Amino acid sequence: MLVEGLNTSIFLPHVCTWDYSRSRSLREKARWYNPFVEKNRWRQALARTRRTAFGRLASLVGATELTSTFWEGLEETLIQADLGIKIVQALIEDLKEIARAEGLTQGDQIVERLRTLLLHHLDMVSNPEPEARPLVIVLVGVNGSGKTTTAARIAHRWLCSGKKVMLAAADTYRAAATEQLKIWGDRLDVEVVSGQPGSDPGAVVYNAAQATLARDVDVLIVDTSGRMHTEHNLMAELQKICRVAGKVISGAPHQVLLVLDATTGQNGLTQAQAFTDAVDVTGVIVAKLDSSARGGVGFAINSVLGIPIQYVGFGETLEDLSTFDAEAFVNGLLTQSETVPP
Ligand code: GDP
Repeated sequence: MLVEGLNTSIFLPHVCTWDYSRSRSLREKARWYNPFVEKNRWRQALARTRRTAFGRLASLVGATELTSTFWEGLEETLIQADLGIKIVQALIEDLKEIARAEGLTQGDQIVERLRTLLLHHLDMVSNPEPEARPLVIVLVGVNGSGKTTTAARIAHRWLCSGKKVMLAAADTYRAAATEQLKIWGDRLDVEVVSGQPGSDPGAVVYNAAQATLARDVDVLIVDTSGRMHTEHNLMAELQKICRVAGKVISGAPHQVLLVLDATTGQNGLTQAQAFTDAVDVTGVIVAKLDSSARGGVGFAINSVLGIPIQYVGFGETLEDLSTFDAEAFVNGLLTQSETVPP
């Protein structure tokens, strides 16, 4: 059923009509979403991690005695979900202490306390969206992590809120990356500034920043290279990209978002540190949560990188990006029944 350019997909989160030129009120309505559907999306996205790792919780919840087998089972579950050994050990110690102090004897009581402790590990609040105009967002991360797809998804979000968006293809090393961004640009009807293969990515960003000012663009999203085998050059290149953006547009880049592939789990965090050391990363985007059985890595991001999670990627379409919701994340991992908690 079509309602003035909106279709029934308004019941999905962050879905908006593809006619971005509609009136603001319609665009705003398009962003309206149903919280029940949103919770289900989180559950679906975390299904692999929940089934593969947290699936064991069901048997632990039923425990009527907190034996060493119970504690070992819980520890293995958390390790398998890829929370990282340090966090797992701290959680088990804390839970044992709580059980002693409160006289807990049941598995379900421990799992409830685990829920609270896990939320504490995610208590780093995401940075608010900067109010700068034009807003410059730079996406960094290793090749294949999901940067280009995420650039398009972020563009889509801004287009849905009525902003004029431009994309910059600053990965000049991989012709395919530029091509992919251009395809997204065509679909979104957004201008993509690019350079010749092998040309200076700094020059692409300079041109894109100039074009942003000249064409009165609200949001410039810069896709960058992530070739890790020449790590030093890459980091120097990213620093240059940020410098160049700042020379043309005051305060730019206002957001530097690190895209992490959730399927790489803890391994991805080591690589991620090279980026946080080089540039001033303001937030993390956890992509491919839907394909990962290691969703627990989300808990390690705050403590290892010291940077909040801004968005998560749930799939390959434009709508598959959500702002991070710690409670939905923890519930999506721990809630075994098919009924979504209120
Ligand atoms: P880049 O090299 O960092 O720019 O990565 P791309 O954006 O090209 O993504 C690499 C692959 O991951 C592509 O096939 C994307 O469709 C896929 N991808 C990106 N984000 C997600 C996600 O959230 N979920 C899933 N399942 N696939 C994703």
